[in-house]
Amino acid sequence: MHSSHMYHDATTNFKKHGIKFDNVSFDLKKMMKGKDKAVRGLTGGIEFLLKKNNVDYIKGFGTLESPNQVNVALNDGSGTHTVNAKNIIIATGSEPSPLPTAPVDNDSGKIVDSTGALSLKEVPEKMVLVGGGVIGLEMGSVWSRLGAKVTVVEFLDRICPGMDLELTKMFQKTLKSQGFEFRLEQKVTATEVTDNGVKVTVEPSAGGEAEVLDADVVLVSTGRRPFTDNLGLDKVGIPTNKFGQIEVDESFRTVVPSVYAIGDCCPGPMLAHKAEEEGIAAVEYIAGMKGHVNYDAIPGVIYTHPEIASVGKTEEELKDAGVNYKKGTFPFSANSRARANEDADGMVKMLADADTDQILGIHIMGPNAGEMIAEGVLGIEYGASSEDIGRTCHAHPTLSEAFKEAAMAVYDKPIHF
Ligand SMILES: Cc1cc2nc3c(=O)[nH]c(=O)nc-3n(C[C@H](O)[C@H](O)[C@H](O)COP(=O)(O)OP(=O)(O)OC[C@H]3O[C@@H](n4cnc5c(N)ncnc54)[C@H](O)[C@@H]3O)c2cc1C
Repeated sequence: MHSSHMYHDATTNFKKHGIKFDNVSFDLKKMMKGKDKAVRGLTGGIEFLLKKNNVDYIKGFGTLESPNQVNVALNDGSGTHTVNAKNIIIATGSEPSPLPTAPVDNDSGKIVDSTGALSLKEVPEKMVLVGGGVIGLEMGSVWSRLGAKVTVVEFLDRICPGMDLELTKMFQKTLKSQGFEFRLEQKVTATEVTDNGVKVTVEPSAGGEAEVLDADVVLVSTGRRPFTDNLGLDKVGIPTNKFGQIEVDESFRTVVPSVYAIGDCCPGPMLAHKAEEEGIAAVEYIAGMKGHVNYDAIPGVIYTHPEIASVGKTEEELKDAGVNYKKGTFPFSANSRARANEDADGMVKMLADADTDQILGIHIMGPNAGEMIAEGVLGIEYGASSEDIGRTCHAHPTLSEAFKEAAMAVYDKPIHF
């Protein structure tokens, strides 16, 4: 993402700063090598940490044999390894939800999921995203910046369902200006892989006349589902809910007292930091301590440019719950740093309880929104009011001043707008 952003910046934005290039080009193989190196380094780092902390790493597919036993079919084919344990934590994650009308074959590179989209051998001329959610838009942005014409087919009447509507409408406009085409309220009813690419049949979600789109690559990004099949859950008596998730209590314990579960295979947002918080809390409970995850303070970020970041309730959620709220917004077009950087698309939006002024939700579209949201997460975690943030000194000139001014807009008014 960062590599494609740098290329895009060089070709579109540098000239605004008086920096001129001739013949800017990129080497996709080298970009991919950089990505692979980063992944290798980071995952290798975790393997090192396991070793350093005396954690045995058994490489294989584990299944529950009993409440205190896991059998592991070893990856190297050398048989089965049995592990007996006082406690077991299931953390098997999730997998892409399949779409019968667009079967994924990552090897062919024509109909791919996010894994395939991270390893395309060349930039597709035309790319169709099936699903306008976080992963699709992030991957689509990468290939769009490198030159692909990206079309998003989305079943609903909006992108990024579940996120703040006002912000996602603004986001869609921005993506449109970057070259994205949106086909909302449409669904993919068939795909046909040809020698040259894929023919994608779409029709209105409510039914109607079909149309065929040509694509070089189709990215199926219709969501993910918990990975809970073939784990031996039945054998030990752990049920899954209608979404295939493992239900746990507040201490992350399943119905079998010795077995815990955390992360994507459980209810809640499918995010790495949510899984991490749950993992720590579950271990604290196992160790006889108290653990806690505040689900109102889990940030979500879309790593496009500009970034989208949010924490807490959306305006729609507050309306639905009948909460009396106040709202403050501040556009980056009025923020000195964003203007000087020529990168001023977006805004900070803050929602607070109308009676107590306690912050209930923060939604940001803008450069570095993913870093800026940390301040909001901390505020929500500590029960801050918008006035607390508005009266906190923020360095000038920084993007985070927009954050302060949005807070001021909640309880009074911003200075610079
Ligand atoms: C393309 C993409 C981009 C994403 N971007 C972000 C992001 O920017 N930020 C973010 O917070 N989240 C992101 N996510 C989501 C994030 O990756 C997940 O929420 C997170 O990894 C969940 O952690 P987990 O521990 O529950 O599962 P995982 O990280 O999926 O780990 C589960 C592991 O268990 C292994 N496993 C499964 N079954 C067995 C078995 N029976 N025996 C042994 N091992 C098994 C799997 O191979 C896997 O390694 C992204 C996901 C995708 C697909």
